Amino acid sequence: MEAKNPFFEPYHTPHDTVPFDRIRMEHYEEAFMEGIRRDEEYLEKTINNPERPTFNNTIINKEDDKEGYYDLLDRVSTVFFNMLSAETNDEMDALAQKMSPILTKHANDMRLNEQLFERVKYVHRHHGKLTPEEKRLLDDCYEGFVRSGALLSKEDKERLRQLTEEASLLGLQFSQNLLKENKAFSLHITDEGQLDGLPPTAVDAAAQEARQRGLEGWVFTLDAPSYTPFMTYSTQRELRRQMYMAYNTKGIHDNENNNLAICQRLVNLRREIAQLLGYKTYADYVLKRRMAGKVRSVYRLLNDLVDAYMPAAVMEREQLEKFAVSKGQKLEGGLQPWDTGFYAHKLKLKKYHIDAEMLRPYLQLDKVIGGVFGLATRLYGITFKENPDIPVYHPDVKAYEVFDKDGAYLAVFYADFHPRQGKQGGAWMTEYQGQYIRELRDKRLELRDISSTSPQKEKSLNSKPSTLNVRPHVSVVMNLTKPLPADGTREGEEARPALLTLGEVETFLHEFGHALHGIFSNCRFESLSGTNVLWDFVELPSQFMENYALEKEFLRTFAFHYQTGEPMPDELITRIVKSRNFMAASACMRQVSFGLLDMAYYTKKDAFTDDVISFEKKAWKKAIVGKQRTDTCMTTQFSHIMAGGYAAGYYSYKWAEVLDADAFAVFKKEGIFNQQTAARFREEILSRGGTEDPMTLYKRFRGGEPTIDALLKRDGIRRKTKKA
Ligand SMILES: [Zn+2]
Repeated sequence: MEAKNPFFEPYHTPHDTVPFDRIRMEHYEEAFMEGIRRDEEYLEKTINNPERPTFNNTIINKEDDKEGYYDLLDRVSTVFFNMLSAETNDEMDALAQKMSPILTKHANDMRLNEQLFERVKYVHRHHGKLTPEEKRLLDDCYEGFVRSGALLSKEDKERLRQLTEEASLLGLQFSQNLLKENKAFSLHITDEGQLDGLPPTAVDAAAQEARQRGLEGWVFTLDAPSYTPFMTYSTQRELRRQMYMAYNTKGIHDNENNNLAICQRLVNLRREIAQLLGYKTYADYVLKRRMAGKVRSVYRLLNDLVDAYMPAAVMEREQLEKFAVSKGQKLEGGLQPWDTGFYAHKLKLKKYHIDAEMLRPYLQLDKVIGGVFGLATRLYGITFKENPDIPVYHPDVKAYEVFDKDGAYLAVFYADFHPRQGKQGGAWMTEYQGQYIRELRDKRLELRDISSTSPQKEKSLNSKPSTLNVRPHVSVVMNLTKPLPADGTREGEEARPALLTLGEVETFLHEFGHALHGIFSNCRFESLSGTNVLWDFVELPSQFMENYALEKEFLRTFAFHYQTGEPMPDELITRIVKSRNFMAASACMRQVSFGLLDMAYYTKKDAFTDDVISFEKKAWKKAIVGKQRTDTCMTTQFSHIMAGGYAAGYYSYKWAEVLDADAFAVFKKEGIFNQQTAARFREEILSRGGTEDPMTLYKRFRGGEPTIDALLKRDGIRRKTKKA
């Protein structure tokens, strides 16, 4: 007998977790198509409802039908797209290709439905008393329509569609050109002497690249794994210059990959889109939906950072120049950009004798897991218990139940640590079930939940019979160093457990911070719960946790040598902390310069007709240390703001750092393990999702708006006292 499609019925697993063990490839497409059909049926039902539109019958109809019939598409999409990143294969990839246009069309049909918008608009104007959370959901829904052009005339809607389409096509072309430019250059070396300084891994990779091209010797390219070591280690200044110039002139050559006109057009297209929708500039349009909120808040941040870091950045450069000269470097025309990486690396080594590999023996994954869970227990009183009955999608994945301080079930937490075939690179946090509170208006639902086995459900039913707090299923997926099992060793190698770098520990803490944001969520609606917050606020909980990686008190709880059991030496920790701030001001100025450039383009109110290269040099001038070259260009390779989603958003990297440093400063002051402080952080921020304006949430925790002071302190920057 053929097994039933598990997406079509209740999961019957611990805490209703995804039944990975029963899902087969053929189940996905069937569930997708039926899910789309049910969505359409739901839409029809909603727009044809003869009753007056209300919040309940228009906005949250579906929010409250989670376990039911109309949730199918959501259910299958969640599993499918998570698997596509974490455990894919050719069949999955092919289905994704097939479904992608169908799903996009479906999403647009739902999102842009005019009759639905008429109802939403009506509710938006005529709603009765709503809680702040309900109001926020309604506003989000309404704004979503409006930002897609729902209020425009027929002609303007058509114009918007054209502009958006052109922008997305040009963004694609920008990326393709960039890719071609990247491929067009290679550095071919046949004289072994020219490899001087390069580490064996880089040389081997270059030899392999040459073989693949049918060439003798070594080939270096502009891809990061080849380019970065070359610029850091090669002693050949002229070759470094060639590599640098090739890298930094991408898209400005007189050939078919030129991106200059495309950039100009993209800036204009986005301005026109924003103005069609009633905003002065594209930045105004974007920032309306950000914590930063206004153009001037972004500029205030960027300018404050320039003022605070510039003197230190200038000093760092002088120091580097002096060091280069002491190494016998003749510096006609001063230190060049192709020199900085090379000498910075040498100087750092001289000052701190530190190397990422030195820490590995002290950072054994099993102990790190204990340390990270232990940190959550110490801060919040929560505990993690592995539960082998929860189905997982790969034997490497561990599933835990998370319990609150009082022992109540809080969440399911999956952890997927190591790389393997079929898994994307990088690290991310995701959810299989978001938290929300269901109002039990239907008797049948109540009966079904009482009969369910989950103790938490019974508990919440007993204490407050009219609602049910559906707890989240959160997952972190990473690519940390694997253990070396005895049967996997090569000659001369010894078996060893998974030993991490400090950077990998930070990655774990980062994703774990996102996970806590999901785990602690306590919101009414799923679309506003957990990590569903404004875009420049989402990295606060994650980056906040990274701060612990450099705290001795934390490292002491788990960092022991995997063979000798010795604790990580204090002196080593001190050197790591100090080395972290090496050239910090220069790094900050670089990020700020990109932020300034981004804002300069997207705050333009009128047609952008300037020469891109000279516009760029002017736009970021105040954040550039030393003299600028006029024969290079960042804009034509700045995918983030031209082709990616960071247009008028690049500032958010620094914005998030300011926030996490400022929040951690509270813990530094009140005690990094202080439970009252942690309880406040949980209550005011981690449990609140996107139910309120992030600045409001933040101020409730902090008692005021964030300042850059804590970041300065962490980076070891002393601010010059301003003259009155
Ligand atoms: Zn993150």
